[in-house]
Amino acid sequence: MAPCHILELSLKEQRRFIESFDMMISDCDGVVWLLAGWIPGAGDAVNALRRAGKTIKFVSNNSFRTDEQYSEKFKKIGARGVNIEDDVVHPVKTIVRYLKTHKPGQRVFSLMSLEANETLRKQGVEYESLQIKEHLTSATLVEHLTISKPVGAVLFDIHLDLSYVELAKAIRHLQLSDDCELIAGGSDVTMPLSENFNVAGFYDFLQHVSRYSNREPTLLGKPSHILGDMLKEMFNIKNSERCVFVGDMLVQDIQFGKSCGFQSLLVLSGGTTKQDMLKAPPEAQPDYYADSLADLVQLLQNMENGSA
Ligand SMILES: [Mg+2]
Repeated sequence: MAPCHILELSLKEQRRFIESFDMMISDCDGVVWLLAGWIPGAGDAVNALRRAGKTIKFVSNNSFRTDEQYSEKFKKIGARGVNIEDDVVHPVKTIVRYLKTHKPGQRVFSLMSLEANETLRKQGVEYESLQIKEHLTSATLVEHLTISKPVGAVLFDIHLDLSYVELAKAIRHLQLSDDCELIAGGSDVTMPLSENFNVAGFYDFLQHVSRYSNREPTLLGKPSHILGDMLKEMFNIKNSERCVFVGDMLVQDIQFGKSCGFQSLLVLSGGTTKQDMLKAPPEAQPDYYADSLADLVQLLQNMENGSA
């Protein structure tokens, strides 16, 4: 069945939709804001849902923002009552959680942003990283690629300052030790920056590391099933069907939500157009779609007006 626009449902169906979930888990970029811009009404939607008794959680594939910066963004859109530590999940948090279980106390090499590294530091994960601003020659490259201590894992995530020498060193770490695990967070194919402005994501850089090190990555960002299991545990989700996942991407959000057994809602305010959605195979399409999160404000207003 083709996905339904939530405001084109009959009023009775709108009520049935709202009553069908207790928790909404939402992506951030492209849904509650843009990487470089804002989405009108998104903050109001978060507040209105909470007033309607819904629990709201956020799951982003973006760790190049610290918790403080996440907090600023939620403040800026006027969304109240978001507890960043408990309500917002992004790759570096799931990576730290994974490391504590699978690589306790081990040193890691980070191909992640300064912000993600700051989270590692705060969480007590010992890490090595390279930030090289100088001009490189083959001789200085060799120096930088020298390994003094092996690491238990190479961590990959969206990292806007990523450089060749960092990729080369990560590959070297992986080649030198069979026990070194390649762990990846955000590795999306496309990264929507602002309205009608998409750039290539970090997917191919991860493929590059994987290919040259001959190592399959352990994926911890959306749409990873390991992340799905972690979320159910972290958010204490007993009945997946009573949860709706909202996002702007078909693979990272809709496919992910469906694979977790959640209902799915695609918003057209980010990286996917209505045409993209309709062209996708039926199993990749969402249950519902909306122009943006602001449509939920309208829907809840319809309920309040008693017109349904
Ligand atoms: Mg998004």
